[in-house]
Amino acid sequence: ISKTEKRLRQPIVVVLGHVDHGKTTLLDKIRGTTVVKKEPGEMTQEVGASFVPSYVIEKLAEPLKKVIPIKLQIPGLLFIDTPGHEYFSNLRRRGGSVADIAILVVDITEGLQKQSIESIQILRERKVPFLIAANKIDRIPGWKANNDLPFLETIEKQRNDVKVYLDNLIYNLVSQLANLGFNAERYDRIKDFTKTVAIVPVSAKTGEGIADLLALLAGLTQRYLETRLRFAEGPAKGVILEVKEDPGLGHTIDVIIYDGVLKRNDTIILGGINGIIITKVRGIFVPKPLQDMKVSKYDLTPIDEAYAAAGVKVSAPNLEEALAGSPIYVIEDESKIEQYKKQIEEEIKEVRFYNDIDGIVLKADSLGTLEALVNALQREGIPIRLADIGPISKRDVLEASIVAQRSKEYGIIASFRVRILPGTDTNGIKILYSEIIYQLIEDIKKYINEVKE
Ligand code: GDP
Ligand code: MG
Repeated sequence: ISKTEKRLRQPIVVVLGHVDHGKTTLLDKIRGTTVVKKEPGEMTQEVGASFVPSYVIEKLAEPLKKVIPIKLQIPGLLFIDTPGHEYFSNLRRRGGSVADIAILVVDITEGLQKQSIESIQILRERKVPFLIAANKIDRIPGWKANNDLPFLETIEKQRNDVKVYLDNLIYNLVSQLANLGFNAERYDRIKDFTKTVAIVPVSAKTGEGIADLLALLAGLTQRYLETRLRFAEGPAKGVILEVKEDPGLGHTIDVIIYDGVLKRNDTIILGGINGIIITKVRGIFVPKPLQDMKVSKYDLTPIDEAYAAAGVKVSAPNLEEALAGSPIYVIEDESKIEQYKKQIEEEIKEVRFYNDIDGIVLKADSLGTLEALVNALQREGIPIRLADIGPISKRDVLEASIVAQRSKEYGIIASFRVRILPGTDTNGIKILYSEIIYQLIEDIKKYINEVKE
């Protein structure tokens, strides 16, 4: 969150992929590798995200100069800390995403799996470009690990049969992607990056290929997303990642700012569970610098202002009902309040809705996950009567009961990370629960088919 005048802001990067393909390990590796290379005292702290400065990427990518010639104009890359598409869902922006680019992590020994394909569908829907980290290359039979070497150097040190083996795995991946309508290729063999998905072979365990991955992310974003990354010095625009209760601060929101500047005492507008919230920023916080070894999760340090792109914690009155996944805007000019209000309300109405039809009742914990579920159900052709946020209430049971009398297969409540309000009589209505989007969709489909048979 430096104040230096940069023309472009840092791209926001997310990591998606099938369970156990290595998302968490890859993010840890990127943080580990880059923290070591940072100069002391220069650790920019973020909430919910990690910043990798450009000079670190340039240093790491030095050996790749011939293949990826980069002189970086972006200040670095901002990685969202929590991987997976449940979290990605909250990085929503009407019709798109706050994320500028995504890494789809694929275990090269397994190829695309269910959640890889679902991730691709979501990225496509939200119009987020992506590249593929073909992970776990160290597990290829005969692979000789060269810790932290760029892929293009470590591959030259492998036996011929190992190279062939890797190429075969990559071809499998390429043909799987072709079936989904994508051209893909190993990144160093690509001529036109606007038409081809780049595959970067990596090992999150040994660090091989991390340099290539970072160089490519930085190079591609600054080249192809320039307009999107142009930084405006105006009022901040962001999205609420999470709503929390913090000791000493009360209810706070973790926000990713993707444009403009957020200052203390700014008036902000955001979506709430029971309507729009307009309040005033009391404090902006980032974690204390890492030099202090005793820092705990809650050691925060206040800052006066935050420049996009940034991850910060915001404290303000009346945040109890703030809605994760909602947009947040700074209002500079009071006369614009109505316009912002309408805009946010309309955006929320597209996701939280009631239709008087025979369809399922859907409850989720945030606007982002609700939207992802609604989209997935629409893809499957499953009708929705009520889509809403929050725990399962009497009203939900009532709605599902009405449907159950006419179309038993849809007379259910599907809940994502929300529980039943204490004291609610569920009246024998079937309730499905999951913490994984695709799992919930599978369970809903299974139930509907069972009843229909
Ligand atoms: P996630 O579910 O996608 O976040 O996957 P994790 O990062 O938790 O990784 C799943 C398992 O794969 C863990 O046991 C990791 O240690 C292992 N793993 C991840 N990346 C690699 C890799 O590059 N090589 C090897 N050999 N194992 C890996
Ligand atoms: Mg994980």
